[in-house]
Amino acid sequence: QTIQDELISSIRTITDYPKEGILFRDITTLLGNARAFRRAVDALVQPWAGSKVDQIAGIEARGFILGGAVAHQLSAGFVPIRKKGKLPHETVRIAYSLEYGLDEMEMHKDAIQPGDRVILVDDLIATGGTAEAACKLLKSMGANIVAACFIVDLPDLGGRKKLEELSVPVRTLVEFP
Ligand code: IMP
Repeated sequence: QTIQDELISSIRTITDYPKEGILFRDITTLLGNARAFRRAVDALVQPWAGSKVDQIAGIEARGFILGGAVAHQLSAGFVPIRKKGKLPHETVRIAYSLEYGLDEMEMHKDAIQPGDRVILVDDLIATGGTAEAACKLLKSMGANIVAACFIVDLPDLGGRKKLEELSVPVRTLVEFP
């Protein structure tokens, strides 16, 4: 079985979640499948195996699960990018638009040193709005973003292009039309 087939078949699709008309791609079933989880993490890091990566930045919440595993594989640190109000120390914050209205995400001010080689990790890229905001936040702290990695790409929503416009290389493992 190819890795794409295994990952696709281990991801569950929920109809009308979180609201009517949405097909939600649920990766908790992939995380619960030991072989699929390992293969996904190994495939995500493969281009950077043996190269210097300082920090993995993970987007709350599923990006924490994958990002922790990726950081361990690459012997890198882990930086949480969180919804506002959750981090205890001084933060930098960025507002970004969701389908309805605005939200804000933040990270600790001292989490990234200028010039750090950073890989951004999340489970899925859709419109790219979330990852774009995270990249802007990382860049504002002087990060050198080596790549943004996701298990799932929804290519029709254009997220990859948005990140590539910021000169961030994008790595994804499977696509759902
Ligand atoms: P974007 O900002 O439109 O690219 O949406 C991506 C963010 O929303 C990521 O943090 C995802 O975890 C989450 N997300 C959007 N759609 C889905 C989905 O179908 N399954 C899981 N997460 C999703």
